[in-house]
Amino acid sequence: MTTRAAAPSSNRIAFIGAGHVGATAAYATMLRALFHEIVLIDSNEALAEAEAADITDANALARPARIWAGSYADAATAGIAVITAGAASHGGESRLSLASASAAIVIECVQRLARAGFSGVLVIASNPVDIMTTLAIRHAGLPRHRVIGTGTLLDTSRLKQVLSAALDVSASAIEGYVLGEHGDSEVAVFSSVRIGGQSLHDFDDAAKALDLPAIGAQVRDAAYGIVRGKGFTSFGVATAIVRICEAVVRNERCVLPVSTWIDRHFGHNELCSSLPCIIGSGGIERVIVPALDANEEDALSSSARKLGEALDALDDATS
Ligand code: NAD
Repeated sequence: MTTRAAAPSSNRIAFIGAGHVGATAAYATMLRALFHEIVLIDSNEALAEAEAADITDANALARPARIWAGSYADAATAGIAVITAGAASHGGESRLSLASASAAIVIECVQRLARAGFSGVLVIASNPVDIMTTLAIRHAGLPRHRVIGTGTLLDTSRLKQVLSAALDVSASAIEGYVLGEHGDSEVAVFSSVRIGGQSLHDFDDAAKALDLPAIGAQVRDAAYGIVRGKGFTSFGVATAIVRICEAVVRNERCVLPVSTWIDRHFGHNELCSSLPCIIGSGGIERVIVPALDANEEDALSSSARKLGEALDALDDATS
């Protein structure tokens, strides 16, 4: 039975999953003072309680907030719920190979949120994030625009950091996107990179000489290197989660590349993948399809096809 919850409160955020990603995102959210109430939910209740207690200790030196290990009833009135529960990765496997184990977890969490009456904005970080965002849309009972996957926001930040180091320009001064799957088929859209309005080709000789395929590969494979060293990734994705939440809470209407329903773009796909989106209090206010060259268009079609095949395989396995 679905409970009718009170209207979502912009003061409250819920994290479903208090592992490396969920706990780091909750901590970063607390430091950014975006919410007065932070609820942690995990099937491992002792873990959720310990992380909530640890973040509460840190909060004594930050802006006051209440942080606790709670229930889906607590999450029901949150303005934003973030799903970070998922299957543990063992390091070298692709994100898509985690699909069936994560799907069962994410569907359970989303259904429990829906039954509790959650009606805010739902952010999905669990991998493979494009497939999990698609499943969340199917099960959340929310309008599609209120479900946001972290998608390639993290990959786009990585691209900007690499270009920043190569060109000696701050990352924030670089406009550009990684789009498509958050994973092995993602596409760095170099044709639309702009620095002060100039393309990479026009900016200077160093930019003209960049090995763009090598940079695309470096960005695409960055997570594998981090996982080899520390066993998981957390700070990058946690900051991407906080950035999306901030855009919603402050109704920023900024443009971020996130995973969303791609409709008929790049083939007839009933699934989510990343495109630049205007994000505000309603979630995804508008999806933007940037100008692409022919190779990028082909690569994004092939990325969408790959995600479609993974989704079909998952649907076949679970039907
Ligand atoms: P983790 O194993 O540390 O944490 C996962 C947590 O989910 C665990 O605490 C577990 O108890 C909990 N959980 C499992 N089933 C649950 C359920 N049914 N209900 C509630 N909680 C449940 O893993 P992590 O490193 O925090 O990664 C979490 C997810 O985020 C994974 O899917 C991972 O692949 C993904 N991830 C995404 C990105 C990204 O850029 N989108 C980056 C890193 C990790």
